[in-house]
Amino acid sequence: MTARVLVVDDVPANVKLLEARLSAEYFDVTTAYSGAEALAICERAECDIVLLDVMMPDMDGFEVCRRLKTNPLTHHIPVVMVTALDQSSDRVAGLEAGADDFLTKPVSDVALIARVRSLTRLKMMTDELRMRAVTSREIGIQNPEIEAVAETGRGGRILLVDDRQASYERLAAMIEDDNTVDIESDPNGALFRAAEGNYELLIVSLGLQNFDGLRLCSQLRSLDRTRNLPILAIADGEDQARLTRGLEIGINDYLVRPVDKNELQARVRTQIRKKRYTERLRDNVQLSIEAAITDALTGLHNRRYMETHLAALVDQAAARGKPLSVLVLDIDFFKAINDTYGHDAGDDVLREFAIRVRKSIRGIDLACRYGGEEFVIVMPETDMAVAATVAERLRRRIATEPFPIDRGHRQIDVTISIGLAGLESADDTAASVLKRADQALYRAKRDGRNRVVADAA
Ligand code: GH3
Ligand code: MG
Ligand code: MG
Repeated sequence: MTARVLVVDDVPANVKLLEARLSAEYFDVTTAYSGAEALAICERAECDIVLLDVMMPDMDGFEVCRRLKTNPLTHHIPVVMVTALDQSSDRVAGLEAGADDFLTKPVSDVALIARVRSLTRLKMMTDELRMRAVTSREIGIQNPEIEAVAETGRGGRILLVDDRQASYERLAAMIEDDNTVDIESDPNGALFRAAEGNYELLIVSLGLQNFDGLRLCSQLRSLDRTRNLPILAIADGEDQARLTRGLEIGINDYLVRPVDKNELQARVRTQIRKKRYTERLRDNVQLSIEAAITDALTGLHNRRYMETHLAALVDQAAARGKPLSVLVLDIDFFKAINDTYGHDAGDDVLREFAIRVRKSIRGIDLACRYGGEEFVIVMPETDMAVAATVAERLRRRIATEPFPIDRGHRQIDVTISIGLAGLESADDTAASVLKRADQALYRAKRDGRNRVVADAA
């Protein structure tokens, strides 16, 4: 997919110049001649990166950047400030406003294309996560976008990889006030610690004495455990070719020595903010996946999950010639519990029931809430005789220990009926086993409830 680049500058000639260069590299270019115009385009999500002139009448670039980065709708769009002066104080002001990077006029082609490529590649990854993450309201957790604009990027856990003592001591001193910094001078040790430790950022000196720092960066990118760990590279001098290579490999940002303290601090904060944002998106995606397969009241799997998973378990058991048993459980006279003690008491019973179910089964067994007060337990590699023992133990555990309701102020007796069936032949299906267990349950109800009945087929 082509990245859409928004070029913002009040001088038309500057816009045309950048537009021509980017178009030549097949980027899709949009232009704006004022801050207000740029903000509107970003809010409509019509671009993947912004190249932003600093000196503009009305609203300057710093202000435009600040507004983009504090708006939950636009904070994730990378912003590259284009400045006339290459002054550290300007860069720090931009970083404080939330800028992701800088280019100095006249802009060199190599630097321009390398930065735009690397920042848009990162944005596309984040977009993928954003798309999968659902809104907080749907699953009742914090909104990652709101948290992202409030995130300070302080208090980070950082691994600094550098084998020159004078250098790492100086770098560590600059960021130690705000962060926890560990130092590693051996590249192999760094790889190991990055994978095992719980770091939020790696700072890698490219000028290692006995090792190629870029090689380490590339190894970090190829390992699953470290692929998503941001890397801030510290480069010696003006080795633009190596930095371009580094950006291609996937380093997230870099600084050139001599390192300015304020700039280092600001870039560290930016990387940590982004890392925390993507972690929140990932957690959110994970939670929404779990929510889609979990019953909210009991925390057991839901019917949808059980139906797909049972089919897979049945196929597997049939293919391997292993036994498999299915229990269908139903709480006796549950409607009367609701009617007598209220719906909340009914919910208490369902929750407590799920806890006792979990205690009675093995890790490989699959327990789910099939509907209202009906549950299914699938037991792989378990024949009917063993399953009957488990079912009987669970029945007793329910019937002999009263259930607390009303926040533990009262206790009530509860019983369940259980129907049990097993996989019979290689052409048995999930549906047919479930049906036989359900018929056995029906007999358990008919014969007086509070009992286990096995399918006789
Ligand atoms: P039986 O012994 O024959 O199973 O009788 P029963 O009363 O348990 O069965 P019935 O199917 O008549 O009633 C089930 C009740 O479960 C009706 C429904 O209102 C209630 N129910 C379903 N889901 C929930 C829930 O999430 N919470 C509560 N509190 N009640 C629920
Ligand atoms: Mg019932
Ligand atoms: Mg029922």
